[in-house]
Amino acid sequence: MVNILWLQGGACSGNTMSFLSAQEPTVVELVTDFGINILYHPSLALEIGEQVSDLLHDILRGSVQLDIFVYEGSVIQGPNGNGSMNNFAERPMQDWVRELSNVAGYVVAIGDCATWGGIPAVPPNPTESTGMQWHKEKKGGFLGEGFISKAGMPVINIPGCPAHPDWISQILVAISTGRIGDVLIDDLHRPKTFFTDFVQTGCTNAISFSKKIDGGFGKRGGCLFYEVGCRGPMTRASCNRILWNRQSSKTRANHPCLGCTEPGFPHHDLKKGSIFKTMKYLGFMPRELPNGASRLGYFTLTATTKALGIAQTDPDTSK
Ligand code: SF4
Ligand code: SF4
Repeated sequence: MVNILWLQGGACSGNTMSFLSAQEPTVVELVTDFGINILYHPSLALEIGEQVSDLLHDILRGSVQLDIFVYEGSVIQGPNGNGSMNNFAERPMQDWVRELSNVAGYVVAIGDCATWGGIPAVPPNPTESTGMQWHKEKKGGFLGEGFISKAGMPVINIPGCPAHPDWISQILVAISTGRIGDVLIDDLHRPKTFFTDFVQTGCTNAISFSKKIDGGFGKRGGCLFYEVGCRGPMTRASCNRILWNRQSSKTRANHPCLGCTEPGFPHHDLKKGSIFKTMKYLGFMPRELPNGASRLGYFTLTATTKALGIAQTDPDTSK
């Protein structure tokens, strides 16, 4: 039996909604087949009020073992660092988070707000929100750079806005079956199994990307990188390998990837004119290039492709 506690801070419940839609395995299978005991979850638990605070105190006292502490949402530290903007069970949530993290076997941050701070941490950040072990691209966050849980791991980050449901349920299975040691994590503490390839891997528009054929929202064929800001080539996530609802993904539905699994999300801090728009130099050169592409090489290739007229025809729409 593996005890899980799930708490929410500065959250919209999006990751909970995602988690409840998990398919491989489902939430029910986590309980029936993988021995997971959900001590408390804000949307699933029957316990309320003092029953919850009693449980939390029992955990801190050591009379209930906490194997996995899952946190969803930003850690709200406002106002002035005292955290009282987000009280829970008669205390600032941030106090529970720190103390529970110190007694938990593993700490798992779910979604962008819990991992990097996400949308709540965008300046001017009135709630003083931050992520569990990151603040945007900077390591540290609420628990600090050196935090290691009792089982010897830093916070395991499963980012996304929301995180894919199967990323969550499969990592919980890996921990509960003692296999988490086999799941390597990257420099941002993301499980490599889900966050090594780019979103572009498996995108049905990839041929249009290489031929530099522009696409558009909902338009079949064409690539969304050139005009509407698709971040698929620089975002590590398995959205086109492990499809959403086993059916599709943003880019397969011709919606640009927003880069939600990277710590810079929301990119450009939601500045006006930066959303669903490719930011460019001189009106034509994308400011951000696919990982590993040199600016000069990309420039030359683009110029050659255009000059040769390769990018004239959209293979899907020319039929
Ligand atoms: S830039 Fe986006 S739409 Fe274009 S191929 Fe890459 S992931 Fe697909
Ligand atoms: S396609 Fe991009 S924005 Fe959409 S969930 Fe995947 S990483 Fe996030």
